[in-house]
Amino acid sequence: MGFLSVFGIVLQYIESKQYFKIIKDNFVKYVIRELKKKYICKEPMFGFEFELHKISVDEQNKKIYIDLTAQNDIINSVKQKHGEFHLSHEYGGWMYEVIPNEPFLIKDLHLIENNIQNLYKYLTIKYGNKKFLSLGSFPMLGVGKYYINEDEKDEDEDKELIGDKNEQKAREQFLEDIKNNKLSCSNYLNDKIINRHPRFGNLTRNIRQRRGSKVDIQIPIFKDKNTDLTTITNLDPNPGYITMDAMGFGMGCCSLQVTIASDSLDDCIKIYDQLIPLAPLFLLLTSSSPIHRGKLSDYDNRWIIISKSVDDRTEEERNPQSDEYIYKSRYSPVYSYIGNVNKYFNNYPKFPINQDYYKQFIEAGISENLATHFCNLLVRDPLVIFDKKINITDDNDMTHFENINSSNWNSLRFKLPRPADGDHSYKIEIRTCDLQLTPFENTSIIHFIVNLYNIILKQNCNFILPITKVDQNYENAYCNDAINKQKFWWRINCFDNININDDNFDYKKDEKDNIKLLTINEILNGANQYNYPGLISIIKKEINENPNYNENMRQNLLKFANYMEKRAKGEIWTDAKYIRRFINDHPKYNKDSIITEEINYDLINHLLDIQNGIIKPKELFG
Ligand code: GLU
Ligand code: MG
Repeated sequence: MGFLSVFGIVLQYIESKQYFKIIKDNFVKYVIRELKKKYICKEPMFGFEFELHKISVDEQNKKIYIDLTAQNDIINSVKQKHGEFHLSHEYGGWMYEVIPNEPFLIKDLHLIENNIQNLYKYLTIKYGNKKFLSLGSFPMLGVGKYYINEDEKDEDEDKELIGDKNEQKAREQFLEDIKNNKLSCSNYLNDKIINRHPRFGNLTRNIRQRRGSKVDIQIPIFKDKNTDLTTITNLDPNPGYITMDAMGFGMGCCSLQVTIASDSLDDCIKIYDQLIPLAPLFLLLTSSSPIHRGKLSDYDNRWIIISKSVDDRTEEERNPQSDEYIYKSRYSPVYSYIGNVNKYFNNYPKFPINQDYYKQFIEAGISENLATHFCNLLVRDPLVIFDKKINITDDNDMTHFENINSSNWNSLRFKLPRPADGDHSYKIEIRTCDLQLTPFENTSIIHFIVNLYNIILKQNCNFILPITKVDQNYENAYCNDAINKQKFWWRINCFDNININDDNFDYKKDEKDNIKLLTINEILNGANQYNYPGLISIIKKEINENPNYNENMRQNLLKFANYMEKRAKGEIWTDAKYIRRFINDHPKYNKDSIITEEINYDLINHLLDIQNGIIKPKELFG
């Protein structure tokens, strides 16, 4: 989740308001300065991030818990690097964020298969083979007793932790609030499960305070033969929906993120824009989270749940009739194209942009689209302000920039260089993928993304759609079995060398003639009726013709391209579809969309066997 330094006390939302201007002003100055520097990175690179659930399997009572000791494992290992990757904190006290130590060069794509296998092996050897679950959501979060913390001493350690009197007092109050569940005020989740780093609990509280109420997550339940669609209870006040009310339901989900770094700012901007229409495809191809709060949902992935779980907009800001209307949560698909893309495609509803900041960007020579992007980020307030880090004098201090950039949780994140860490490249984080169950599936997805990155870099392709159509694609990407049941807006002439910035370009005609609703199979594997070749055939062509690849590498890359081809055809299933089938076939499942402890126990054990390579179902591997 990024940005984990601690500088004194985190201010509550109300107190922090007075500092927003200082922080936003600093953000603008920092961005302008950094965009003017000419950073050069020698070669395009990529990296990735896995988020994992630490769990505990109770064989005697046939129960599975999330295990809050993950955060201690991380603290204990923070200074060491584990061979090829290292562990870091995530929102949940039971979560690990795992990142390779060094980025990879594109030409080393074939090396990641081993690296990712080693990562799973390392965790298995160090913590046990039933100690971590590689899946989007933990199915029983918020149901019955769903967590354990074998290290109860933690809370006392926390009290000793930090510095002067004020900090100590604030810390004590914070611990008291956790005890009384005053951060989330959730009816289902205990605040104890939030990672103890102050960023996470304070985000939870400040989102709720800013919004003026608890977050409200309603997702449609999967309607099975016996699903109860009428009974109203305290925990289920909205029949037909799964109700959730805390940040943890969303930020407790695990993603696979891929970060790419390109040689120059111009390349990075171009790639960012081209990835915008691709990002929802990555989401639906990786769906792995069909169960939330012990119920089977009608959605296959985590996206909308997280989006709602951090939606800090006030009632006014959520009201389309209001002047203050902001049309998306701060966790959402990106707002706009940032490069040389015509306004026709940036057709999103209006954002309440700060004109003063916009002017500053324009006067500094920043393009309109890039200025709009940063101003859209600035619509959000900073949520975690440390009292000892408000007035910044060092021009190189990125704190306020990171504060805003890394709490705009969008489908893509445009990242500036971090010269203090020896990082001199502009980067894009691709953030839509649900985490996959196995190293193989995760590797396939990373290959798919990096291959597309390579093609965008080398070829004159153009995937741009009106951004509202990209948003519509997200709506369909959540759905149960989207691969087989949904269609998506897609540009069928994306490989035809079109120039959409030509003065005479007829945008309306272009949209009518070239932007069509296709299945994911057609998008990846081709649509004959339109003479559209499909992404996979272009990827394979590049793999086959790239003179830098030797035969071994070629075979490795083709293996993963073939896998994605089959997944798009529906021949190989998503983890979500596989989980649904397992539930449906379970002898104790009553066809009522409810996952009991017993079903969950069998499900997770089965999934762990797949994750650990003991079972290889043909539905997942062909
Ligand atoms: N866990 C979040 C997700 O599933 C991402 C948190 C982060 O920004 O690293 O999208
Ligand atoms: Mg993360």
